Amino acid sequence: MASDNRKQAVSARVERWVRTDVQALKAYHVPAIEEHVIKLDAMENPYHWPSAMQQAWLDALQQIHVNRYPDADCSQLKQAFREAFHVAEDYELLFGNGSDELIQLLAMAVAGPKRTILAPEPSFVMYKMIAQFLQMNYVGIPLGTDFSLDVSAMLKAIETHNPALIFLAQPNNPTGNVFGEEKIRRIIEATSGLVVIDEAYTAFSSSDGYPLLADYSNVVIMRTLSKVGLAGLRLGYLIGHPGWLEEVNKLRLPYNINVLTQASTAFALQHVDELFKQTAQICADRELLKERLSAFDNLHVWPSEANFLLCRTLEHDAAEIQRLLLARGVLIKSLHGSHPLLNNCLRITVGTPNENEVLLRELAALLAS
Ligand code: PMP
Repeated sequence: MASDNRKQAVSARVERWVRTDVQALKAYHVPAIEEHVIKLDAMENPYHWPSAMQQAWLDALQQIHVNRYPDADCSQLKQAFREAFHVAEDYELLFGNGSDELIQLLAMAVAGPKRTILAPEPSFVMYKMIAQFLQMNYVGIPLGTDFSLDVSAMLKAIETHNPALIFLAQPNNPTGNVFGEEKIRRIIEATSGLVVIDEAYTAFSSSDGYPLLADYSNVVIMRTLSKVGLAGLRLGYLIGHPGWLEEVNKLRLPYNINVLTQASTAFALQHVDELFKQTAQICADRELLKERLSAFDNLHVWPSEANFLLCRTLEHDAAEIQRLLLARGVLIKSLHGSHPLLNNCLRITVGTPNENEVLLRELAALLAS
């Protein structure tokens, strides 16, 4: 009884004080996973490190002092990134707790009641969510039916809304394609705002936005280590002109990258060849998986430059297939209902060859019925 009263009192206060638009939001849902499930829903790298590397990492972690705050500026880590990814001294680096946090920081830096974030749709959902969190205006421009960027619609939206920020994911999530450098240049040249080239999947693609930094003052490159095997560490990074990054940095909480992440990432970068080896394996397996999935005549599979494949069921309800597949021990993502262009679409992360075989076997059984 007392606890019921307390609950009501809490509700009343929440209603009184929490922004009504926040009360109307739904929290980002991450499904709880049973141990034995084959997890092909979140674009993770399925591989562990070789055991000698694992041991060397554990040895390195023994040097960490968890009683001390981390290096707030990540200075050693920055140097390691510069070397591993050949980042010129002209550009600054900024780390985030995943690139999610960097999207939030970038948006905070330009936020205001009349400020707009522009992005093509469907794309990464966090652009819109963060615009909502910050009460910004969000404009989503539909991609073409082949998921190509509709440049004229984007240019028109730039003229109408004068966006402060434009997000272009290259390759795009969840469609897996790249928009192409020429189109991206036209957008950068048309806007006075900042264009964020979100290269979360760059490791699986030949596209590279880094050279754009030399040509334009309104571009930053955003990347992450999440897709190359370090999703659990949460490390995203921005590469850009110091002028932009110095402003964004003011909004970063001082110790956003913890000691374990800093040390583990620095360690991983010393073994960057192993990360690249795993990535190359995933790219090769993506092509094999695409070929095998394309052989189902009631499934359409799009080409991909990322570590996932987007498919459409032609005779089945995709959400139902996703549910039945999970009951058979394989978790993929249903995108049905998330955007009109994604009707009956499924997104499948490339797993290990064994995991891909199980997926193909179980999916074959479901699509045959
Ligand atoms: N950008 C894109 C396009 C993504 O797909 C994702 C993850 N799904 C992210 C950014 C965020 O990645 P993280 O926060 O793990 O760095």
